[in-house]
Amino acid sequence: MSQVERARRLLAGAGEVMVLTGAGISADSGVPTFRGEGGLWREHRPEELATPRAFARDPRLVWEWYAWRREVVSGCRPNEAHRALARWALRRDAVWIVTQNVDGLHAVAARVAGGSPTDRLIELHGSLFRVRCTGCGERRAHRRPIDATSEATLPRCEACGSLLRPDVVWFGEPLPESVISGAVEVARRADACLVVGTSAVVQPAAGLASTVAQRGGALIEVNPAVTSLTTLAHVSLRTRAAATVPALVASEDAR
Ligand code: NAD
Ligand code: ZN
Repeated sequence: MSQVERARRLLAGAGEVMVLTGAGISADSGVPTFRGEGGLWREHRPEELATPRAFARDPRLVWEWYAWRREVVSGCRPNEAHRALARWALRRDAVWIVTQNVDGLHAVAARVAGGSPTDRLIELHGSLFRVRCTGCGERRAHRRPIDATSEATLPRCEACGSLLRPDVVWFGEPLPESVISGAVEVARRADACLVVGTSAVVQPAAGLASTVAQRGGALIEVNPAVTSLTTLAHVSLRTRAAATVPALVASEDAR
């Protein structure tokens, strides 16, 4: 039996499944990574811009960077891996997608598949296409273009008038409690975990995957490189996400 077939059977036989994804799943859609080319923007590193301090000091500059990132990602489409996972989650109601990505591509794929963009999707680090009010804390979806030409044109809360910020988790910020507890809950229930395109160095990602493995659940990894989870994995597939994920989640009748 091939390794792909072994992984497919482990997933097909599991009750609940947690799919954990990172930047690698969106690499096949052309979304630039922080570490690769394009990691520098006008001589600023992400670590200098994606912080609460940077926003307090110069909200216009931070919004200009996010406006640029939103524009870049808007030109990217979900690839075969995002799409196959979205269709699978729609077919089987015990599949949860937990992502570290902020590009919103899992939500787009869910919509394309005919499902709800937020159903059984946990965006651990938030989304480039959501905003949060710095005053009243209200969060909402936001896809309109951002005008960052001056501080006066930055987006403001309709309810309280305070400045809006991107609803993403910045360096040095904790994840929202409700997001963490939701993801931990999924990890505690899952009988299998499919990890796609994450180096799993950032917590809580690695911890969520090992929670499933420690409880005796199957751990399957798709990544061209070795990661800290590889030794724990039952099946480790050294390939690109778009090339392999569709075959892993194909149902018996679709094959
Ligand atoms: P990472 O950059 O640490 O790791 C990416 C992993 O993907 C690597 O292990 C790499 O070997 C693998 N990979 C590369 N190409 C692949 C492919 N085609 N198919 C499958 N795997 C592939 O990313 P991370 O683990 O997600 O952590 C990075 C942090 O940066 C996260 O906190 C995330 O929020 C943020 N980030 C998000 C995005 C995004 O939203 N798309 C992009 C860059 C960074
Ligand atoms: Zn407000």
